[in-house]
Amino acid sequence: MTDPLTSQVVNILRHDKFIARHNFAIGALRIWPRAYHDVADAITAGKIRVGSNLSAGNAAQYDMTFAVMDVSEDLNVLDERHRAVVFHEATHAHLDMLAFGEHSGYENEAMGYIAEALYTLAAKGRDVPSHPIRVVAKPIAAKVYAGMYAIPQADVAALTAAISAVPAYNRMPRYTSNGL
Ligand SMILES: [Zn+2]
Repeated sequence: MTDPLTSQVVNILRHDKFIARHNFAIGALRIWPRAYHDVADAITAGKIRVGSNLSAGNAAQYDMTFAVMDVSEDLNVLDERHRAVVFHEATHAHLDMLAFGEHSGYENEAMGYIAEALYTLAAKGRDVPSHPIRVVAKPIAAKVYAGMYAIPQADVAALTAAISAVPAYNRMPRYTSNGL
């Protein structure tokens, strides 16, 4: 019934074991391990669509308005880098599901980058060295991995500054969590 790409994303979200420590928050923006199962359920129910219509330069993306997650058509479930970006986008999807309205797009992205870095840490995956956002997200993720729940304001400030310095994000300072 579902196409192969959608099945792959659902399988990653449902069965990956490296998300046990994905439990952290920036204010009202929160994620927890079971949240990714909720995203998988929403995809299976057709409330979130999986596609591969990526904008130039994006490894993956999530559209908060239309609830569409786009991933590479060459998505490889065995590649931990690919899985890390699926969890980045699924973090946006979960925040969209919570329907808490308009908020900082930079903080929403910070949640995605921490989730991605935390995944990479847990899976002992390869990094993207020298990436201006990921280099800031990595030590924050290490603290979450060690048990920290609320991301301290200084870390939020450093990470959102790195995100807002990227033109693609700078155009979208506000996101809206409007349900699916
Ligand atoms: Zn993102």
